[in-house]
Amino acid sequence: MHSLMDMIKKCCVLLIACCSFSAFAQKQDYPIQPVPFTSIKLTDQFWSPKIETNRTATIPASFARCESTGRVKNFEMAAEHKGKFCTTYPFDDTDIYKTIEGASYSLAVHPDPKLSAYIDSLIGIIGKAQEPDGYLYTARTIDPIHPQAWAGPERWINEQKSSHELYNCGHMYEAAVAHYMATGKSNFLNIATKNADLLVRTFGPDKKHVAPGHEIVEMGLVRLYRVTGKADYLKLAKFFIDQRGIKKYNIKSKDVYENGSYFQDNIPVINQDEAEGHAVRAMYLYSGMADVAALTGDSAYIKAIDKIWNNMVGKKMYVQGSIGAVGDGERFGDNYELPNATAYNETCAAIGSVFWNQRMFLLHGNSKYIDVMEKTLYNGLISGVGLDGKSFFYTNAMQVSNSYNQPDLERERSGWFTCSCCPTNVVRMLPSIPGYIYAQNGNDVYVNLFISGTANLSVNKKMLKII
Ligand SMILES: [Zn+2]
Repeated sequence: MHSLMDMIKKCCVLLIACCSFSAFAQKQDYPIQPVPFTSIKLTDQFWSPKIETNRTATIPASFARCESTGRVKNFEMAAEHKGKFCTTYPFDDTDIYKTIEGASYSLAVHPDPKLSAYIDSLIGIIGKAQEPDGYLYTARTIDPIHPQAWAGPERWINEQKSSHELYNCGHMYEAAVAHYMATGKSNFLNIATKNADLLVRTFGPDKKHVAPGHEIVEMGLVRLYRVTGKADYLKLAKFFIDQRGIKKYNIKSKDVYENGSYFQDNIPVINQDEAEGHAVRAMYLYSGMADVAALTGDSAYIKAIDKIWNNMVGKKMYVQGSIGAVGDGERFGDNYELPNATAYNETCAAIGSVFWNQRMFLLHGNSKYIDVMEKTLYNGLISGVGLDGKSFFYTNAMQVSNSYNQPDLERERSGWFTCSCCPTNVVRMLPSIPGYIYAQNGNDVYVNLFISGTANLSVNKKMLKII
């Protein structure tokens, strides 16, 4: 536990002397803005070595594993429409996207021409795997007559349960925006917007209806909206969120369906008041709701995520910040169902909780969100990666013993998993950590995490250096 940090009051507000109203009209957004990680240089002894290990060991190992496990080959086969999808899950494409995202963050503060050229070569392969109308999903494109089983016989038919088509899109958008912002190159961004334009043509009030089976496309569309200014992307993010908990027409079975609480799809999001279902899905949904609320002023979303946050933090979170207690379904349990011996606590859920808690802080400015974020970062999240940067926990046990009746939870970290969502989420989380330290709102500067280093900010058009 990071108890010293917990005891120290957060969010020291540095009031900058020179007061005047902003001279320019701002677009509606989070009232508090994070100070980008690119403006911060760390000198601490805890995170700096971990971020350096991520750069020198985790990123190369992750790319190497994307190659050795066939994830890159899937894109190459999709480009040629030839071969057989050679990994296990239809969302394996996202491991490449997430590693490019993390590598891009790293490039932004640590130029590396060799890495940059390698990423460009991967983006070239990804672009060739994209179909002419923008569709990008190797599990189908390799052999559309015999797609991977979870993908379903036609595009989008299995989206609400297993295909993860929109999940792949969301991670692609996050990676493409990261790459564009880090390098200024639009090669990946163009692929992403071509794909997002297909979604805009396909889904909407008078088009196809679906509640994405695994959320993240909502956050990804918001990121694309921020860099392109294209309102259709923001509208589509809201449309997908509002699809949850309402009856939808299944074009395959011709029946009307909703997915239930595992998918946060049992009641409309504005009426939800409990953290339920698959924990990673939930974190990405609530983060997406916060984003859309910040950009549209949707107070009903804020009311809902406020209630859900109180439920999660008060009744469904472990003492070290982990969430998602139940292994069967990687999900939240009932209120106060927080067993030690069988705690699941997926690393991705902790990462998602950091995303969401930062957003809640940016909306409300209350230090309680930073307390949860900090506790999670230092405990429930970082336990997911070993000091070597190449070994990972998918689940983060609260208790491990060698007794014969110990439940079958991980006792040692592994290099990679068949479902390798957690290692590649770590890849993209670590280099962006300096971006969680400071935030600002007009003349106020917030110091949220106590990590040694320097930061350069512009406050009221005056440069401020924090050392
Ligand atoms: Zn995971």
